Amino acid sequence: MTKKVTDLLHLFDEQKFQQDLITWFKKEQRTLPWRESKDPYRVWVSEIMLQQTRVDTVIPYYERFMSLFPTVYALAEAEEADVLKAWEGLGYYSRARNLQSAVREVAESYNGIVPNEPKEISELKGVGPYTAGAILSIAYDIPEPAVDGNVMRVLSRIIGIWEDIAKPSARKTFEEITRRIISNEDPSSFNQGMMELGAIVCTPRSPSCLLCPVQEHCRAFAEGSQEELPIKSKKKAPRPVPIAVVALEDNSGKFLVRQRPETGLLASLWEFPNVELSEGSKEDQLKNHIWEEYQIDVEIEKELATFNHIFSHLKWQLTVYKGTYDGEISPKNFKMVEKKNLRNFAFPVAHQKITQMVLEGEE
Ligand code: SF4
Repeated sequence: MTKKVTDLLHLFDEQKFQQDLITWFKKEQRTLPWRESKDPYRVWVSEIMLQQTRVDTVIPYYERFMSLFPTVYALAEAEEADVLKAWEGLGYYSRARNLQSAVREVAESYNGIVPNEPKEISELKGVGPYTAGAILSIAYDIPEPAVDGNVMRVLSRIIGIWEDIAKPSARKTFEEITRRIISNEDPSSFNQGMMELGAIVCTPRSPSCLLCPVQEHCRAFAEGSQEELPIKSKKKAPRPVPIAVVALEDNSGKFLVRQRPETGLLASLWEFPNVELSEGSKEDQLKNHIWEEYQIDVEIEKELATFNHIFSHLKWQLTVYKGTYDGEISPKNFKMVEKKNLRNFAFPVAHQKITQMVLEGEE
């Protein structure tokens, strides 16, 4: 253990802390569908879904996903398009693709049993140190740290750590501390207790210190610095990307949708034709783009809406048009789809909104 961690944990009563945290967690934990069993596959799916996504949002997705793909083999053998469809709306679609390819590896190389060795599990696609620690501790009772942003916030306050949690190097400190204070008898309840504490008591703003089960251990509370911790430097604001999109209908009432490339942002999902804008007329740039891609002349009927969609690193500023065209279209990676069938395609959230506009506009 580094001197820094030894110093930070000087006079910290680990045993009593574990006891208070675990007793509270066992009594007060929320009923959540992924807590119904310790099946490592179920734990894994929940942890992947919960990355960057709120619990309330995840619950219905998780239940549907588990009914569609209840086992490692069910997910391994599923079509990727069906998996993406079940994930539609959750965002960060590479999570779903990585999950399926890792689950395929478990099916092929580990007889369908999620490995319980830190090295093996960490080599699976999309399984970072947090997810590996969560699966190993929750499903297999192995005392491995599961440190995410929530746990770093809680630990910053309890132990009094004034280190910038936005820096990648900080994670090492928090993992080392967790290795030292985690319960070896019940690492599952310990890690889940930390997560639960961060979710419902030690929240980012206005933590409920007066109701906190570990208040007597908390240095930030003792010093009154709970609102100042954790230290977190600001991320850069997402880069704005202006985009014009068209819901493009042919003379038989079908809409053109196309599939995004197999790699990169929102890989393999479907979308309405669109173009990233530079200076000048939006409509002209959109028409030129469609001409270059499909050699058809588009008639813009009207503007349907403008709205933003924010990713972690960029902000789409969308202007949505309704358009029509006559004539034959050159073969490319697209489909002409009847309005009533648009919902069968896996669209990213922004394009689901456009689908909704198309359906409502035609009703
Ligand atoms: Fe968080 Fe307050 Fe509890 Fe400390 S006492 S762990 S700051 S809720």
